[in-house]
Amino acid sequence: MNRTVSGKDIYTFAKFDMVYNQLRMLESQQNETKYKCHGSGNCCTIGLTLHMSECANIAFKLRQQYYLYLEDKGNDYASSWMDEIVDSLIDAMYDETWEPGGATERKCVFFKGGCTIYGFRPMICRTVGTISTIDDFCPRQRNEHGGIDYFTGPAVERIVKGFQDLMKEYAEGKDAGYDVVVYMPLGILSFLLPPEKMVELSETTDSKFWRAAEGWQNYKMHFTQEHGYFRGNSTPVTIGERKNSEKDF
Ligand code: SF4
Repeated sequence: MNRTVSGKDIYTFAKFDMVYNQLRMLESQQNETKYKCHGSGNCCTIGLTLHMSECANIAFKLRQQYYLYLEDKGNDYASSWMDEIVDSLIDAMYDETWEPGGATERKCVFFKGGCTIYGFRPMICRTVGTISTIDDFCPRQRNEHGGIDYFTGPAVERIVKGFQDLMKEYAEGKDAGYDVVVYMPLGILSFLLPPEKMVELSETTDSKFWRAAEGWQNYKMHFTQEHGYFRGNSTPVTIGERKNSEKDF
């Protein structure tokens, strides 16, 4: 399978950005309060699982950046920049500590002292502490209940619904392999690597990375459940045979 990005997808990605903008406004308001993000990066010790639409959006933005570097800094710079990213994503496919659900001892592949895809980081990274609770390792100041005050209500529900609608829009007319939540490095690589390399990868990596969950399930269950974002199938399902990833994933 050759995963590509269509003109319709690019239109959907632009709309993703409009949803992200709404979160940006809330994040900026939150950062005016005592619950502001300290930028610790503690929440980036994670091997994210994402809907394919966001993997596609990240892959598309990385390609865009590649072409900007190509124009500005030349082929050697642009190619080695892209190679380094692809190598990190491939390396993450050999993370022995990663568990389906996201737990790992490693930092996210995009964390290099800070988020290197900050402008197009996925929705889930934007929600932590803004429209969902935080984990114990977050250094934000707490309220008297040991938590933080985060945004809720109809406006938040509209943002979440808008996000959900866009994931559906992205998957419309595509095969089932586009309407799943997968390990982020795998999802992004499926847009960046040629099919034969994906098959090679499937033959040398653990099957745990090749499991996909149907629907909108995200790695932060409390977020997905709180916002009615959970479609009921919490059991990860294997999409196809590993050796046949070209066809099935
Ligand atoms: S995408 Fe960026 S913000 Fe999200 S976990 Fe990775 S480094 Fe952190």
